[in-house]
Amino acid sequence: MTYDDVEQVRRKCVFTTHTPVAAGHDEFPVDLVMRVLGRLEIYHMKDVFCCGDNLNLTYLALNLTHYVNGVAKRHGEISQQMFAGYSIDAITNGVHAATWTAKPFQELYDRYIPGWRQDNFSLRYALSIPGKEVWEAHIEAKRRLFQHVGERGPGMDVNVLTLGFARRAAPYKRGDLLFADLERLKSIGSKVGELQIIYAGKAHPRDLEGKEVIKRIFHAKEFLKGSIKVAYLENYDMELGRMMTSGVDVWLNTPQPPLEASGTSGMKAALNGVPSLSVMDGWWIEGCIEGTTGWCVGENIRLTRGSGDPSKDASSLYEKLEDAVIPMFYSDRTRFIDVMLHSIAINGSFFNTQRMVLQYVLKAYFI
Ligand SMILES: *Cc1c(COP(=O)(O)O)cnc(C)c1O
Repeated sequence: MTYDDVEQVRRKCVFTTHTPVAAGHDEFPVDLVMRVLGRLEIYHMKDVFCCGDNLNLTYLALNLTHYVNGVAKRHGEISQQMFAGYSIDAITNGVHAATWTAKPFQELYDRYIPGWRQDNFSLRYALSIPGKEVWEAHIEAKRRLFQHVGERGPGMDVNVLTLGFARRAAPYKRGDLLFADLERLKSIGSKVGELQIIYAGKAHPRDLEGKEVIKRIFHAKEFLKGSIKVAYLENYDMELGRMMTSGVDVWLNTPQPPLEASGTSGMKAALNGVPSLSVMDGWWIEGCIEGTTGWCVGENIRLTRGSGDPSKDASSLYEKLEDAVIPMFYSDRTRFIDVMLHSIAINGSFFNTQRMVLQYVLKAYFI
C-alpha cells in the first residue's frame, strides 16, 4: 500500500464518530494486528495507523476519510476538542418516524396530517390537531404500556403523572440520579398525591458499575414503597422501547455531560407527544425550548454558554419536577397538552431520519 492508495480511500470515505466514551474508541496492539492481517504498513505508515504500539480505530478512520462528523452539535464540538488537528462537523441524529410512532398517534396523524410518513417535516402541522384528540391518543398509548406493566408489577393508574426512563444501564447515563435524595423525592411525591416511575434497561454483562446502578434503583423502589410506585421492566428491547417512549407522560434523561453524544429515546418520545425532562446534553441542547417542548435539568448551557455543574443536576431535577412539571400536569392540563403538541411539531418534525439523511447527503456525501 502507498500514500496514493490512502488518498484514494480518503476520497471515497466519510466517518461518523459516535461517542466521547472511551469504550467507543477501540485500540488493538500493533503486534496483534500484524499477526491477524500480516501487513507491514502497520509499522511503516504510523502516521496513518496511529499511535505508538496500538492501532486506534478512531484515528485510522480520521486519517482515511475526507469528512468527519459527530452526532449532535455539542458532540461535534466535544469531538473537535478530543481530536484537535482534524476538522469535525456535526449532523444530529434522528429516529425513524413511522417505526417509533405508536399506533394511536399513527392513526391520529393519518387523519390530520396525511402523508406524514413520506414527509416527516409535515409533522409541524401537529400544532393544529385538537388537544383533546392528542390527549386521547396519549391515554390509549399509556393504557397499552400500563397493561404490560400490570402483568409484571405494581398496578399503575393512568391518571397519575408517570415518568419514564429506559436505557442501557451504562453508568454515564446516571439512571439513578432521580434517587440521589430519596427523602426529597418522597416528599415531592406525597405533596402531589401521586407520582409513578417506570424504568427499563440492561447492563452489559461485564459492566459491574452498570449493574450497581440497577441495584440502587431496586433499593430506591423498596424505599419508596407506599409513596411512589416504581416499576422496573425486564428485557428492554425495541418493542418495550416503543411502548415506553409513547406510554409515559414525561421522558426523563439524566446523563453526565458531555458524555451523551446524541441520545435518541427522547426523540422517539417527542414523536408521541411525550416531552423530555432532561439534562442539557446531546440532542436535547438543540431540542429544548424551556416550558414549550419540555424542561431542562441543570444549567441551560445553550443560554448561559457555560459548561454546567453536574453536582447540581439532582437538586435541579427535583426543583423542575416540583415547580414546573407537576403543577403543569395536574393544574394546567391545557398547557401540558400544548407542550405535547410542540414536542411533535418542533422536535418530531426535525429529529427524524429523513432530515438526518438529507443532511448527510448535503454535508457529507456530495462534497
Ligand atoms: C432507542 C433505544 C436505545 C437508545 O436510546 P438512548 O436514549 O440513545 O440511550 C437503546 N436501546 C433501545 C432498545 C432503544 O429502543
